[in-house]
Amino acid sequence: MGQPKKALVCGAGGFIGSHLVKYLKEKGYWVRGVDRKYPEFGPTAADDFLILDLCHEENCIRALTLDNTSESGLDEVYQLAADMGGMGFIHSAECEIMHNSMLINVHMTNNAANMGIKRYFFSSSVCVYRDMKHGEPEMTEAQAVPANPDNEYGWEKLYSERMAMAYGRKYGMNVRIARFQNCYGPEGTWTGGREKAPASICRKVAEAADDGMIEVWGDGTAVRSYTHVYDMVDGIYRLMQSDLVGAVNIGCPQYVSVNELVDTVAKVAGKKISIRHIDGPVGVQSRNFSNERIYSIGWKPKVFLEEGIAITYPWIEEQVRKARVSV
Ligand code: NAD
Repeated sequence: MGQPKKALVCGAGGFIGSHLVKYLKEKGYWVRGVDRKYPEFGPTAADDFLILDLCHEENCIRALTLDNTSESGLDEVYQLAADMGGMGFIHSAECEIMHNSMLINVHMTNNAANMGIKRYFFSSSVCVYRDMKHGEPEMTEAQAVPANPDNEYGWEKLYSERMAMAYGRKYGMNVRIARFQNCYGPEGTWTGGREKAPASICRKVAEAADDGMIEVWGDGTAVRSYTHVYDMVDGIYRLMQSDLVGAVNIGCPQYVSVNELVDTVAKVAGKKISIRHIDGPVGVQSRNFSNERIYSIGWKPKVFLEEGIAITYPWIEEQVRKARVSV
């Protein structure tokens, strides 16, 4: 048996990053994780875990250095570290997102290229696409330009995509870019203000009595699609091993309104739940985009919404129960 491949996962203390570390370990990789924090909900699966603030260049170099040489020694870098949250956070923390995530990407991309990394993954987002109406024809990756994202998070992702591509061309680094759709699953942020819609609704339903009412931002007609984290990490890995150059959407082609998401969670919870619609940051009405590029390398989502919620809801319900006991 040869040496295992060596991967760095930036953002390994976060939701998708911690699942990706587990996935890479199952594939036989040696993995170094790096983040500002350890994973919140269980021990990391990484062989080596560094607590570092990647906004600082010297910390990016440290994360990329295996032996004390100017070459990295790592085979693959997965860059998932970002200032990140649901719509509430994205609209209230524009400066933090543009400042922190940009610094991380400027330093990681530059130093990964300079230190001879051969494969570099960047986690972008479907937030790069403009606001759309439900039912509009699906957009391909190229149609993100001319660009008009509805939030600064999307603009930061677009710039960082282009920077990664430019470094890839100049330094011969194989850059792979995924535009993630809304991702959900166990061990994701479920409270505190950064949680995204599926986790937030699972929490509200878990907290509500049977026959209870929950509050939802907007009129509930905004349409989204949700990708389970198990499918997402599989997509990331397959994309990284592929020859697909340029941005690639990764998402589940099942579009549901926020009201339908609530109904699905209520069904899984076995509760009758009504909704009070209140003012709040809703984001775009819809985003419809093509998954043909990721399908072309053999990836298809396996976990559709009801099954994914059936995996996720019990975990969030358990967190709600534990939080009640500890008060
Ligand atoms: P997350 O917030 O759980 O993970 C991001 C991690 O980055 C966190 O653990 C955070 O501590 C870390 N981080 C932030 N600033 C850092 C710094 N200065 N130094 C070191 N670590 C730092 O988010 P996630 O949902 O796992 O998202 C991972 C990536 O996927 C992000 O780039 C995000 O923008 C992208 N993405 C996620 C979704 C989604 O639905 N979750 C959708 C589109 C794109």
